[in-house]
Amino acid sequence: MILLTIESFLERNQNLKREELDDIIARAKERSLLIDKEYDAFITLNDNLAVESKGILYGVAISVKDNICTKGLRTTAGSRILESYIPPFDATVIEKVKRAGGFIIGKTAMDEFGFGSFSINCAYKIPKNPNDKERVTGGSSGGAAAVTKAADFPHIAIAQSTGGSITAPAAFTGTVGITPTYGRVSRYGLIDYSNSMDKIGTIGKDVFDAALLLQIIQGYDPRDSTSIKLNEESYIDSMNKEIKGFKIAIPKEYYDYNYVDKRVADKIMDSLSKLEELGASFDIISMPMYKYAISAYYIVAISEASTNLARYSGLRYGLQKQLDSSLTFDEYASIIREQGFGEEAKRRIILGTFARMSGYRDAFYLKALKIRKLLIDDYKRVFSRYDAIITPSMPVIAPKIKDALSMEPLKVYGMDIMTVGPNFTGMPTISIPVARVEGMPIGMQIVGDHFNEAKIIRIARNLEKVLNYE
Ligand code: GLN
Repeated sequence: MILLTIESFLERNQNLKREELDDIIARAKERSLLIDKEYDAFITLNDNLAVESKGILYGVAISVKDNICTKGLRTTAGSRILESYIPPFDATVIEKVKRAGGFIIGKTAMDEFGFGSFSINCAYKIPKNPNDKERVTGGSSGGAAAVTKAADFPHIAIAQSTGGSITAPAAFTGTVGITPTYGRVSRYGLIDYSNSMDKIGTIGKDVFDAALLLQIIQGYDPRDSTSIKLNEESYIDSMNKEIKGFKIAIPKEYYDYNYVDKRVADKIMDSLSKLEELGASFDIISMPMYKYAISAYYIVAISEASTNLARYSGLRYGLQKQLDSSLTFDEYASIIREQGFGEEAKRRIILGTFARMSGYRDAFYLKALKIRKLLIDDYKRVFSRYDAIITPSMPVIAPKIKDALSMEPLKVYGMDIMTVGPNFTGMPTISIPVARVEGMPIGMQIVGDHFNEAKIIRIARNLEKVLNYE
């Protein structure tokens, strides 16, 4: 079967005969193997492609970022320290997908524990961008985006973001990524990076695909105390409504930031005229707190990360090795951690431990939390007058892998300027491809107020229809 859009596939998947379903699965398996060969997009492919129910996702392959637990299927979080971890349970989102008839095609490549913006901090392999194999996919959900871009069978990806890991790879590959409001989707079964920011979301070929999967995985979960009790929303039902009268804010600071490629900023401004044609209006506004977002985000992210990684000592969690029995526990754990963690993970453990040490906590960690509050106020002020905020998704086009590998860590962190603000404050975002520069896709990031996913999905869908991006 040739690729149909999932939207049209859903009209016929309920009538599939068993042999047709078997064909779809066999083809998805064969193609995934090739995609992996070509782009190094998977860490583990799944051999057990069982379809458990005839739900809405019947016959749709779902790839899963490798930091989300899948029962009986290796889950490494992109790290050597979890090289042989096989979870005895499914994350809530996986249970939901299986119940909806989706089958898990494999676990996708990522920066170790989500530490990165390019998917180059990888213990296994560095995924390649299907638009240009010499370039990065974006990170940390790089494999998810690469598979989504390259798939020619019905497929949607489950991804995850802490500070931009869905938006960045969606933008660099020309796919659509949705990062929901913190608390909208259960984190039960997600391997933590920074608990107060981690969110599970989706990447699809178009707005419909990404929204459909979000609709399925969202919802309150008593096993995650930070998940929120709200009515579950039908994005599919509301996304085609018009956007006449919508007011969009364009924060000028983000377009003038020193790492922004002017060509990228210009393309985003150009696509705003399409929104005007649809009846929306926009104003240039100011969000002065933006300049503190990266520093404050990274302080909180690495502080939480360093405590989360403390459990991987080789005793209860992490690599276990037979070593000389005369070693003390500290010596044993040091060897395990030395061998198990990559360079970026070690950098974050050291910096994060420092930032929350007694004596420094007030100066760094607590100050960063205060900035988070001020940033939320900044966003709330804007959302009291506007429906959405639009910025580029990333300040640049996907860099070449070799250039990214030699970039200074601070410059890499600076690439997150567009995404850390909304992620740090728990706002939902969607990234959609709107244009190309040097043949590479440019993403537009649409940010909404807390729990306004339906609104930003609607804006994206309306825009996608008039853009003719491909
Ligand atoms: N680049 C950011 C970081 O390294 C965000 C990564 C993420 O969202 N997991 O922290």
